Amino acid sequence: RLEQYAALRDMPTVTRDGVAIDLHLNAGLLVDLPHIAETGASGIGLFRTELQFMIASAFPRTNEQLKLYRSVLDAADGRPVVFRTLDIGGDKVLPYMRAIEEENPALGWRAIRLGLDRPGLLRSQVRALLRAANGRELRLIFPMVAAVEEFDKARHIVERELTHLRRHGHGLPERVLVGVMLEVPSLLFQLDALFERIDFASVGSNDLVQFLFAADRGNPRVADRFDPLSPAALNALKAIADAAERHGKQVTLCGELASRPLEALALAAIGYRKLSLSPAAYGPVKAMFLDLDLGAVAALVEPLLKGETHIASLRPHLKAFAETT
Ligand code: PEP
Ligand code: MG
Repeated sequence: RLEQYAALRDMPTVTRDGVAIDLHLNAGLLVDLPHIAETGASGIGLFRTELQFMIASAFPRTNEQLKLYRSVLDAADGRPVVFRTLDIGGDKVLPYMRAIEEENPALGWRAIRLGLDRPGLLRSQVRALLRAANGRELRLIFPMVAAVEEFDKARHIVERELTHLRRHGHGLPERVLVGVMLEVPSLLFQLDALFERIDFASVGSNDLVQFLFAADRGNPRVADRFDPLSPAALNALKAIADAAERHGKQVTLCGELASRPLEALALAAIGYRKLSLSPAAYGPVKAMFLDLDLGAVAALVEPLLKGETHIASLRPHLKAFAETT
């Protein structure tokens, strides 16, 4: 099957009924980068910058960060790369950082919350990213944004750093696009205000689903209790895709959902045209799309999501569709 997927590498990802789907890869370390060439992916849809911090024995210096980001952009060779600023705290701990006792770390002082309260760390990371992208495009997202004001503050930090670099005569990126990781359900009720401000969004369905159902993604007793193919989850995801469309902004889904063929099919059916996958999932998901009649599955999904008759999950319907077409 691996050779079979390799044969698909240079084919564009277009469904049988002619809809183009843009497939990117999730990455976090230099070793992930050869996968771009192996799969023929359109770019890096999520680069998790905290991985460099998690495998280090002390805070990586700005220079070391800069070196990594530059190598990532070099390896992407002009394809877009979405860098996520540090997502630490919660399940992502740094061995050399004093751990703070929190009763609910996933809901605690983490990600952009920590970044805004201790802006020194975020500033130096943003500076490293801006410098690494000298003459190229930089795409940035902030993790765990729960209110549009947090995005405003984070973007202000980016603007300050740009001004600083300009004043000191450093080279600047050709352009800078700033967005959010959409993974906290409160944003579902601020979508228009959010999409007015951001340049693009990336949906973190791992956390979004965890918070939507109040079910710990890392706890096997509850992690699989609620189906992301239930109308509740799919309607939440669809509201995001619809808002992006209304505002003419790009949205990518980069959670694990996109890496499973049946789930990826459902995401395309509710309007997602850009997905970011783990490298191992690339071949199977691409093969599924090449063989898909998207119009037919969208027509199946639409009435099921309207909720006229309640169903627990669309999974059996989608499975039956996938097996019979
Ligand atoms: C997510 O939350 O869906 C996501 C892609 O990020 P992470 O798994 O790193 O939290
Ligand atoms: Mg997340």
